[in-house]
Amino acid sequence: MSGQRLEVDWPSCQARGLCHELLPEIVALDRWGYPLVHGDVTPELVGAAKAAMKACPRNALRLRA
Ligand code: SF4
Repeated sequence: MSGQRLEVDWPSCQARGLCHELLPEIVALDRWGYPLVHGDVTPELVGAAKAAMKACPRNALRLRA
């Protein structure tokens, strides 16, 4: 089942990696620590995605339908 997409506001992101820690199912990190989002935010992951958005120190994460 498809879901929403997690988008990163690149100018705001400072590669702190918290989103990967909170949502490892769909967020990996590149060699510099920037998030690599793979796959949709399925209904089961919406709660974790919202927690990652709230925890991001740069407010750089958005959920899009
Ligand atoms: S938590 Fe926010 S600032 Fe940190 S890597 Fe993820 S999007 Fe970037």
